[in-house]
Amino acid sequence: MEKIRIEKSACLKEKPGKDNPLTFGTIFTDHMFEVDYEEGKGWYDPRVVPYHKLELDPSSMVFHYGQEMFEGLKAYKAEDGRVLLFRPDKNIERANRSNRRLCMPEIPEDLFLEGLKTVVSVDQDWIPTKPGTSLYIRPFMIATDPFLGVRPSNTYKFMIILSPVGAYYASGLDPVKIWIEDEYVRAVKGGIGEAKTGGNYVASLASQVKAHDEGYSQVLWLDGVQRKYIEEVGAMNIFFKINGVVITPELNGSILPGVTRDSVIALCKKWGVAVEERKISVDEVVSAARSGAMEECFGTGTAAVISPVGELRFEEDRMSVGGGRIGELTQKLYDSITGIQLGKAEGPKGWVVEV
Ligand SMILES: *Cc1c(COP(=O)(O)O)cnc(C)c1O
Repeated sequence: MEKIRIEKSACLKEKPGKDNPLTFGTIFTDHMFEVDYEEGKGWYDPRVVPYHKLELDPSSMVFHYGQEMFEGLKAYKAEDGRVLLFRPDKNIERANRSNRRLCMPEIPEDLFLEGLKTVVSVDQDWIPTKPGTSLYIRPFMIATDPFLGVRPSNTYKFMIILSPVGAYYASGLDPVKIWIEDEYVRAVKGGIGEAKTGGNYVASLASQVKAHDEGYSQVLWLDGVQRKYIEEVGAMNIFFKINGVVITPELNGSILPGVTRDSVIALCKKWGVAVEERKISVDEVVSAARSGAMEECFGTGTAAVISPVGELRFEEDRMSVGGGRIGELTQKLYDSITGIQLGKAEGPKGWVVEV
């Protein structure tokens, strides 16, 4: 692997004040990681450089046909000062799965991990330490051939930017209201739902706007073919606890395989909580919510970690979940996962990687 060049910024930005509440994804650190790719040459010139604007040809393929991949993970500062990443190997593996689906070159795992550790280490003073805060890491890759024809690009740029963040929802761990979407779909089997890419997000916007207008924070997606089975909630995976059993939709080709989802399943199994990965229909969800058999419901994803759901709306029906309060297991999962991420609690082997 080519050595990562480091060019430090001569003019450091002012960091957010300790007492200002951090929002999500608005502030960026002093540096970024960058590496380029050219067909036949491979990846070259990996570097950590001052955070900067990009100069790209307006015909760059990413702008026209959406050939891009992104990832999301977080770095935390432990009480003893260690800088910790949570399961970065999972993100690297998933990035390359997305890349294969999107006809983009794979990134060597050691280059990805070293790039990640180097840029986080250079900007480690930006990692916030208040409860609920962390340094959000956004690796992403774009197609840069200046060409309007439709084919995979021959050149790419992979970058990692960093953003100190607070709680994903301003309301913190307050349960959110979810709209069950029966008009639009996010992804279909055979499409790109399994890949982490902007195309899936733009497909979701119209529905998100509609739900927001109605006072709901996210939508619950149904499968694109039968509009019958639950897939995800917003840009998170979804879990239900019904009659003591934790149920999450099985990975079916259109669901994004979340690292948080995988971690929740592993912890439930470790604790002896019954978990089922299977198809779950909207009818089953609605009848469990109506009868009160649904004890808890929550979304999982890196940004919010665990997001409790307090109300489901399907057509004209509004159903409260767990009395609109955060469930016991939901809270325990949030506390356990964030405890492991912060290095306060021992997690399964390999989950926490020191920078
Ligand atoms: C990123 C993402 C998730 C959550 O994945 P994590 O690895 O847990 O952050 C879930 N659904 C979609 C659509 C996503 O893009």
